[in-house]
Amino acid sequence: MAADLECPKCDGTTWITVESPQGPVATRCECFQRDERESPYATLGLPPRFRTATFDNFSAGSAKEDRATYNTLIAALRIAQNFATEFPVCAQKGLLFHGGSPAKMTHLAAAALKALSDRGLSCFFCDYQELLQALRSRHDTEADASAHAAEISARIAQVDVLLLDSLGSHRRTEWVADTVGGIIRSRYNHEKGLIATTSWPLEGTRSALARERSGFQEMGVAPSDPETLAERIGSDSVWRLIEHCAPVSLRVPSRGRPRRQSAQAPPSLPKS
Ligand SMILES: [Zn+2]
Repeated sequence: MAADLECPKCDGTTWITVESPQGPVATRCECFQRDERESPYATLGLPPRFRTATFDNFSAGSAKEDRATYNTLIAALRIAQNFATEFPVCAQKGLLFHGGSPAKMTHLAAAALKALSDRGLSCFFCDYQELLQALRSRHDTEADASAHAAEISARIAQVDVLLLDSLGSHRRTEWVADTVGGIIRSRYNHEKGLIATTSWPLEGTRSALARERSGFQEMGVAPSDPETLAERIGSDSVWRLIEHCAPVSLRVPSRGRPRRQSAQAPPSLPKS
C-alpha cells in the first residue's frame, strides 16, 4: 500500500527523472530531504524501506484467498497494536516476532516503534548485524569507530524501547553471544522495552542447552548446523527473551505442507 501522503512530484517514490546532457538521470526528489528533516521519526534509526510502515498500511492479504495467513497476520497486528498502546503498563515488556517473513515482522515491529514514539517514549531501531559490526569496531579499538560505538552503546542502554531486527542473523561466536546476551540481560534487569524479530525458530532451547552442557564448546567443536535461535545467540538469552517479551508467531499453520523451518536456514534478505 502507498505511503500516507504521496508527493505529487515523485508519487511518493522519492526519485524523479531529470534531463541531463547525457540523457535522463534519476535524482532524489526534494521531498526526500525535507521528510528526513521534518519527520518526527527521524531519530529512530529506521531503515528507508520501513520508514513509512504503520499499522494502517500493514497488509494481511486477502481473507478470501488465504484465510489462514490472513488470520495469523491480523492476530499479530492486534498484539502489536495493543502493546504499542499499553506499554509499559503490561505484564511483558516486549514483543518477539518470529516464524514469518522478515518483511512482515519488521513492518509490524517498526510500526509499533513509531506508535510508541508517538506516545513520547524514546525508541531506537537496530539492525542486529549492523549493531554488532559497530560494537565490534569498538572491541577492536579502532579510535574513530570507537566513539561511534560508544554513542550506540549509550543509546541502546538508555532508550525506553529498543528494536533488535533480525536477531540471530550473525554467525554465533563467543563475542556475539556475550554481546547480545549483555544487551538482552540489561533490558530484562531494568524492565526496559524490547521488540525483536527473528527468522530462527524458538524451539529447541532445552536441547541446545543440553548440547552446550555436554561440552561441545570445550572440545572446540562448533555445532555442525546451528538451527535454532538458542544456538545462534545462546539459550540463556532466549530464555530471558521469552520471559521478557511476548512471543508473536507469524507462522501460518500448515495444511499438510512440510514446513519444518528448523531443518533449514531462515529466509534470506532482502526483506521484501
Ligand atoms: Zn517527492
